Amino acid sequence: MPEGDTVYRTAADLRRILEGKVLQHSQFRTPGLATSDLAGRTVTSVRSRGKHLLINIAGTATQSAVSIHTHLKMEGEWHVHPVGTRWRKPAHKARIVLRTSTHEAVGFDLGVVDLLADPDAALAYLGPDLLGDDWDPAKATTRITAHPGTTIGEALLDQRLMAGVGNEYRSEICFLRGVHPETPVADVDVATVVDLARRLLWANKDRKVRVTTGNTAPHARLWVYGRHRQPCRRCHTLIVRATLGPPGQDRSIYFCPACQS
Ligand SMILES: [Zn+2]
Repeated sequence: MPEGDTVYRTAADLRRILEGKVLQHSQFRTPGLATSDLAGRTVTSVRSRGKHLLINIAGTATQSAVSIHTHLKMEGEWHVHPVGTRWRKPAHKARIVLRTSTHEAVGFDLGVVDLLADPDAALAYLGPDLLGDDWDPAKATTRITAHPGTTIGEALLDQRLMAGVGNEYRSEICFLRGVHPETPVADVDVATVVDLARRLLWANKDRKVRVTTGNTAPHARLWVYGRHRQPCRRCHTLIVRATLGPPGQDRSIYFCPACQS
């Protein structure tokens, strides 16, 4: 599932082929942007901000600078390949095509696609970015502790408090801290949770496969996420799957009822 580390790595992949390059062709396959054309424009930078990806395009004599803002949500991914190479996903799933003289970047199944005149203002609501150059653990801790009655499981997913953690990481973080996900923030050592989140995302930012156990074997990578009714790797109690989140936005969470009581 795409989380902050996935988007960070995606930005690095796109940066390698797009940054400083002139777009020969662009296509937006989303309602509202179908007539947008960035051909002839230069990509100035590519960066991630939490789970958001920004591809910044230089202005011209007659057009202002603009930023392509995308979010992978549950299913999205970007593929990069030399021009003329066959796509690895069906064309009808493509939402954006950007082509330079040598490479093509195709965004498939993207959850959000829009063009922003001022991306910093548009994303100003996000909390500190766990993988950002300006990462600030004290600020993240302060933002989370300002919600003492919220469960830690919900607070970890709230991108306004801290940006980058998704559903897999929140289960893994709660397990590694020995905290039940429904524990109120007031009863949690938030600074150590924030520190752990940073270390986990940082360790995984350059990996293709996410690992929280230190074991890269396919069925041993995670402590609890996706392991409903399987024995806890520490105490052999069966892992439980529940849902946790605001009404209508509840998502699966996995925990060990013994280790996290
Ligand atoms: Zn356990």
